Amino acid sequence: MSKKILVVNTGGTIAMSVDDSEGVKPLDDQAVNKILPFLEKHADVTMKNVLNLPSPHMTPAIMNQLRLDIEEAFEQDHYDGIVITHGTDTLEETAYFLDLTLSVNVPIVVTGAMRSSNELGADGPVNLISSVRVAADSDSLNKGVIVVFNDEIHAARHVTKTHTSNVATFQSPQYGPIGTIAKKSVQYHHAPLDREHYAITHADANVPLIKAVAGMEPSWLQFLLEQQIDGLVVEAFGLGNLPPAIIPTLQQLLDKGVPIVLVSRCYNGQVQDIYDYEGGGRKLKEMGIIFSNGLNGQKARLKLIVTLQKTRTFKELQLLFDQ
Ligand code: ASP
Repeated sequence: MSKKILVVNTGGTIAMSVDDSEGVKPLDDQAVNKILPFLEKHADVTMKNVLNLPSPHMTPAIMNQLRLDIEEAFEQDHYDGIVITHGTDTLEETAYFLDLTLSVNVPIVVTGAMRSSNELGADGPVNLISSVRVAADSDSLNKGVIVVFNDEIHAARHVTKTHTSNVATFQSPQYGPIGTIAKKSVQYHHAPLDREHYAITHADANVPLIKAVAGMEPSWLQFLLEQQIDGLVVEAFGLGNLPPAIIPTLQQLLDKGVPIVLVSRCYNGQVQDIYDYEGGGRKLKEMGIIFSNGLNGQKARLKLIVTLQKTRTFKELQLLFDQ
């Protein structure tokens, strides 16, 4: 019996077309719907157009609404798998947000396209067909939310967009894909060890992300002291070190009760409390800054938005970021 798969369309290049002036525009009628007849060879597919957004327009609040829409659709009709089409710019963020929060225990796949629907070599149709095949494959169970792109399967937690235009843009630095898609089969090589899940009601915490650069001025950050922010994520240098000039401002934010999460600008490795000079990781840890466990900045921000609903205590947040 063929599996029941729900395809949820949210927009992005997969649903766009290029016009004569070479401008890429959202379509009124989602291009993805035209792929439906090709999907039906692989599963019993239902398609729902829930949004038609370029993914730079995505917000955590919209991601949370998308989670609710998926949970509601799943409650009404028990699907065997769910595929979400999404713009690639923020695809990894929505995929990771859903990985942390979605309470649906069937394969969940996120996909998109680097080339618009009417371009030669458009990758949307094949990515969508591969995604339906992966969502319908029972080996895809218990892998958390996965991203299917260019014949590869990636864990939402590790995948990131690495190229502005190449169809092989989605990579998992340090970890690699968890599986590959061949003409006739879906093969997993390894699986994520565990999945974190947080039951949340909203996703509206105000959490900016800033990146450390050499010669950073404290005045760049001082405006944050006047904002109502719920948390802050800082992309530090290397193992987790910052310019000393910004430390007093960070200390003022901590004193106001704002949790600060540290990630690295490097896309491999974790931040650790090793260096003992001013601005070094050891001093940052002593100040109460929370060290993340290898997430990139944009994902650590989402995890902080989600975990702030559980606790605002620095120590408890650190335990959640250790997972
Ligand atoms: N700018 C587009 C978006 O994210 C890129 C894409 O979909 O590939 O909506």
